[in-house]
Amino acid sequence: MKYIVENNQILDDIFNKALSGPILFKNKSLLFPQYTPENILFRNEQIIRLGYLCSSLLKGQKSSNLFIYGKPGTGKTAVTKLVLSKLKEKGKEVNSDLYISNINCRSAGTEYRVTAALARDINIDIPFTGLASKEVFTRFEKKLLKDKIPFLIVLDEIDALISRYGDDLLYGLTRINEKDPEIQLMIIGISNDVRFKEYMDPRVLSSLGEEEMIFKPYTPKELENILYDRIKSAFIPNSISSATVSLCAAISGSEHGDARKALDLLRVAGETAEREGRTQVLTQDIKNSQGLIDQNRIVEIIRSLPAHSKMVLTSILKHPPTTSRLKTMHIYALYTQYADEYLGWHLTARRFSSLVHELSILGLIDRKIENFGRKGGRVTTILLESPEKNIRKVLCEEEIFEDIFNI
Ligand code: ADP
Ligand code: MG
Repeated sequence: MKYIVENNQILDDIFNKALSGPILFKNKSLLFPQYTPENILFRNEQIIRLGYLCSSLLKGQKSSNLFIYGKPGTGKTAVTKLVLSKLKEKGKEVNSDLYISNINCRSAGTEYRVTAALARDINIDIPFTGLASKEVFTRFEKKLLKDKIPFLIVLDEIDALISRYGDDLLYGLTRINEKDPEIQLMIIGISNDVRFKEYMDPRVLSSLGEEEMIFKPYTPKELENILYDRIKSAFIPNSISSATVSLCAAISGSEHGDARKALDLLRVAGETAEREGRTQVLTQDIKNSQGLIDQNRIVEIIRSLPAHSKMVLTSILKHPPTTSRLKTMHIYALYTQYADEYLGWHLTARRFSSLVHELSILGLIDRKIENFGRKGGRVTTILLESPEKNIRKVLCEEEIFEDIFNI
């Protein structure tokens, strides 16, 4: 009883404080990664080129496929969404038949869901489970060949699809174009990493990469401008000093010019200031929020991994402690053992190494190919990039991984 009264009191205080405290944010939603800015700075070149490439579809003509890559937070998704929404608008205005699909492969999660989403976007009813991916693809292909309506497919974070499932789906898509010259299918693949090409069939690669576009990391100066532009509408005037903006841009620029991180830092720092009843965001708030957002990111990434990737991470953690880097072949041996026992089957060595690669792209591990002389050959070694206990804590949210750690 005592706790109920106490908790009620605490919550009452929190809400009253929030209501009576000074306002710092004018519109906080503009600082979340889901928000797509209308005003995209420093990306004119990419917007124009993407616009040109897509414009053929409006006239019912074929366009080249495109492969976009750049580090996270360099504006790939924002630019694509902007161009797509204008294309949709224009298509409606001039009454041109056009199918458009924009799928994030990482959030879709499985090859089945990506295929099903494509099929639904051309108005085929697909159940959430129950069909084989192949069957869904067959229905999809049939409808496309029948409709003969130009179709723009954007596969965002395509690296997640390929490292987990290989390139069968992409191969199938690129083949449709060859089957019927009347089909206008344009595929745009977006990736955070250019090296994932290693896992693609050369035929798929040459088809998808007819055109390529690179998004370079933003410089600290560019990040500052992006921040200032967003601050105008997200915060009340004079709440953020130029020193705070510079620090925020410097931190996010030092890794790889990541605008998402810059905006995240600013939002979390603002939340701290607001909680403390201040109307100024200080440089110290930025410094404090850095550790917090890095940890949140790790949690989010690990939770969204497929089971076999989590098993790879678990195997890395279960490897007996050593002072040197871990050899992936030793991890593979552990992985096959755990995967067989707890997931019922294990992936091939090739698929395993593509998952290891993905973990390195996500920044969870550091992967290196080392040369051990003529006899030793080339060996892939890895090292965890984040504290072991943080990773373990997230993995243990699921019973099977917790069981393995308890062995
Ligand atoms: P990517 O897809 O390359 O990882 P995003 O397009 O998702 O990056 O960009 C991350 C965030 O940064 C977006 O939410 C967007 O608000 C912001 N952003 C990125 N580039 C720009 C830009 N050039 N101008 C304004 N905001 C940007
Ligand atoms: Mg993106």
